[in-house]
Amino acid sequence: MSYEVPHFIQGKKISASNRKLEIYDPVQGKLAGHVLVADRQIVQQAILAAKQAFKTWSLTTPSQRTKILFRFKALLDKNIEALAKLVTQEHGKTLAEAIGSVQRGIDVVDFTCGITHHLKGVFTDHVATGIDCYSLHQPLGVCIGITPFNFPAMIPLWMFPMALACGNTFVLKPSEKDPSCSLRLVELAQEAGVPDGVVNIVHGDKETVDALLIHPDVNAISFVGSSTVAEYVYKTGMTHHKRVQAFGGAKNHCIVMPDADLDQAAEQLVAAAYGSAGERCMAISVVVAVSDETADKLIANMKIKITHLKIGSGFSADSDVGPLVTQAHLERVQSYIALGKEEGAKLIVDGSQYKPKEFTNGFFMGACLFDHVQPHMRIYKEEIFGPVLCIVRVANFDDGLKLINEHEYGNGTAIFTRDGYIARTFADQVQVGMVGINLPVPVPVAYHSFGGWKRSIFSDIGMYGSEAIRFYTKLKTVTQRWMPRISS
Ligand code: NAD
Repeated sequence: MSYEVPHFIQGKKISASNRKLEIYDPVQGKLAGHVLVADRQIVQQAILAAKQAFKTWSLTTPSQRTKILFRFKALLDKNIEALAKLVTQEHGKTLAEAIGSVQRGIDVVDFTCGITHHLKGVFTDHVATGIDCYSLHQPLGVCIGITPFNFPAMIPLWMFPMALACGNTFVLKPSEKDPSCSLRLVELAQEAGVPDGVVNIVHGDKETVDALLIHPDVNAISFVGSSTVAEYVYKTGMTHHKRVQAFGGAKNHCIVMPDADLDQAAEQLVAAAYGSAGERCMAISVVVAVSDETADKLIANMKIKITHLKIGSGFSADSDVGPLVTQAHLERVQSYIALGKEEGAKLIVDGSQYKPKEFTNGFFMGACLFDHVQPHMRIYKEEIFGPVLCIVRVANFDDGLKLINEHEYGNGTAIFTRDGYIARTFADQVQVGMVGINLPVPVPVAYHSFGGWKRSIFSDIGMYGSEAIRFYTKLKTVTQRWMPRISS
């Protein structure tokens, strides 16, 4: 049955819109519903609701907000499976992956429940005789969040609960490809006691984003998506005097040293490269094998594991990998297979045309593995964002490190080795924001912070953890002196 995803403004679903976009069922490859597109007027309505709500929400005490956030967390826990089903239905990832991703979002809500501690200022008495100095973390006002298709629950949950905990109000613009889960998230927030207007949703595409970015009443922008759009959002937001954090794309390398446990490395790399159909900003997309012998052994091992990957509906408990999100994205990823062959890389596993028998119209493809990839090739330089892994062979650790440091992206990276000195040198010298040692997907836990380097981020402030407190508040420092009353 076809459905339509409305906006959510001032605590109500809003169905007005001149334009709609299509939402697909990626397993069947069929149109499933539509999402409305917010024009300037709808955006204005949402920002106004958030601006009005800020007047009272910013005056609530951190502990009053914590009580609501605790209830929100409990409701998320209770509804985790239902939320994950919405993710699987529109994104395609397996239900187990979807549950894991919602949990990573709930972990951030968990962190917000301790906001009273994090908003404590610093006080120094007697910075000079009779003079004290103290700092306050004050909310910014109306914050907006623009999120990508690959984590439709987790990334919104990395943003709006932190913003709300700090006393801000929020307008979310979720990905138009899988918007249903975000709507459910804000309904649960409302049920938990978040007052009307404090968190709102406008759906849409570039038209909606542009109206948000330049709106005079928007104070801060959090963006996650591709680097081209991240850079555009960053520059536009900065030009309009907003605080902006914009997270972009990735090409995450993993060095495999000759002394590594190659069986363990192969197992983990297959999951890190092909899990969620490679649609993860922390997926490993390049393996840097140190020596030909390491490459040959690793590849032999990975090939066996790849043949065991079960590709099918995300709702089937047997599936390891689901479909890609849309036909357009599938075709884009497939075009890189032809390109890689033209560029001279050796395609040693070709799943590019694979479809499960029962879903021949679905947006499926199987795992692809390129060997002998060279740094000048586009399949090496560009983010493919699908189940495609490149193997680059190098002679030694230093060459591998140099390769990573010269790449334009710097989101995540990893190394497999048994040598503590090499691991430590890698962690110390690699020019990447998130590093794994014998762990290929080093997404930091909620009480640390998330953020890449180089073209994977535009801004200096990371997501969630203490970085989010810094992003969603502004610092005020008061220096005070009080005189005794003069008695008459
Ligand atoms: P995308 O850049 O196409 O879209 C992201 C958001 O921006 C969406 O809400 C979309 O509607 C909006 N948008 C798209 N084009 C726009 C334009 N021209 N102007 C204004 N807004 C626009 O990204 P995507 O395809 O949804 O997501 C995949 C990308 O996100 C990958 O590059 C991936 O690496 C990246 N990503 C990064 C992180 C990170 O933390 N660094 C996390 C997840 C995903």
